[in-house]
Amino acid sequence: MSAASRFDVIIVGGGPAGLTAALYSARAKMKTLLIEGSAIGGRMAEAWEIENYPGFTEAIHGYDLGQKMFEQANKFGVEHAQTSVIGIKIDGTDKTVTTGIGDYIAPAVIIAGGSERRKLGVPGEKELTGRGVSFCATCDGPFFRDKVVAVIGGGNGALNEATHISHFASKVYVIHRRDSMRATKVLQDKAFADPKISFIWDTEVKAVEGADAVERLKLKNVKTGAESVLELQGVFIAVGLVPNTDYLKGLVDIDPYGAVITNDKMETNSPGIYAAGDVRANSVRQVVTAAGDGATAAIYAQKYISEK
Ligand code: NAP
Repeated sequence: MSAASRFDVIIVGGGPAGLTAALYSARAKMKTLLIEGSAIGGRMAEAWEIENYPGFTEAIHGYDLGQKMFEQANKFGVEHAQTSVIGIKIDGTDKTVTTGIGDYIAPAVIIAGGSERRKLGVPGEKELTGRGVSFCATCDGPFFRDKVVAVIGGGNGALNEATHISHFASKVYVIHRRDSMRATKVLQDKAFADPKISFIWDTEVKAVEGADAVERLKLKNVKTGAESVLELQGVFIAVGLVPNTDYLKGLVDIDPYGAVITNDKMETNSPGIYAAGDVRANSVRQVVTAAGDGATAAIYAQKYISEK
């Protein structure tokens, strides 16, 4: 078996937190490896319009912002591995990161693996995913041209999905389990002003049904108990995020929601292991704060390495 490659800093995740950490590490002349399992940009790449990242007076597509961050980090010599991390082992100051394509060793590891979309867990959701059930309006919007769709959820994610899919669909229902939303007012105002979007309040989805593709939702009003059926062709599920931390259990402290606990230096309880972005407990899950976390983690990782 070939010897594992050695780096100063290994970064897990290629979203805004990981890409910024990579930029800061490589620019500080740390030998830096960025490991990404899927697309550069992470969940940011799915955002149709980002209008709150400083410096861009016109909204920028998340994919484009991810590519720019990637190019900027690459200018300073970041190395890449496209693979998934299976586990991390600690041996003194060495951390061995085991992936699908081999092991990598470094004294400092920055966990920036982001989060996954939460599932509703109702009958039909899994079976009809890709056949009318989607978790990404930016990716799948054009498939729903002139169709009736629903977006489930009441957060920023749901209203972003709804206002994006309304460019394509003939009708968009936002179905929320309460009678008020946690989405920011600016997104609520945009959705309320959209003539194609209607809201169904206090309502839970009990099942997604259809023979080969989505045909209807079974709904229940949580206040009255009344059950109803909504005929449609598409369902976008936007009910929050779950941090990607399964491979970290037992290695670093994790909070009850599955997020990595850090201090304000992005240090975990395990020396030399940092966390940044959505994967971190109490993250406000913004591109700009993920980038800030990534920079902070990289700066303290350099300090850790120089003191060793
Ligand atoms: P979120 O803010 O956690 O909202 C999740 C929504 O789904 C809530 O309305 C919640 O209802 C609902 N929900 C959760 N579990 C459910 C279930 N089992 N059945 C039905 N409804 C359920 O998640 P998000 O909207 O994905 O946003 C995640 C984070 O990313 C947030 O911090 C958000 O601010 C950020 N984000 C920011 C932007 C932006 O434009 N700046 C865009 C997208 C996302 P309750 O309200 O009743 O709990």
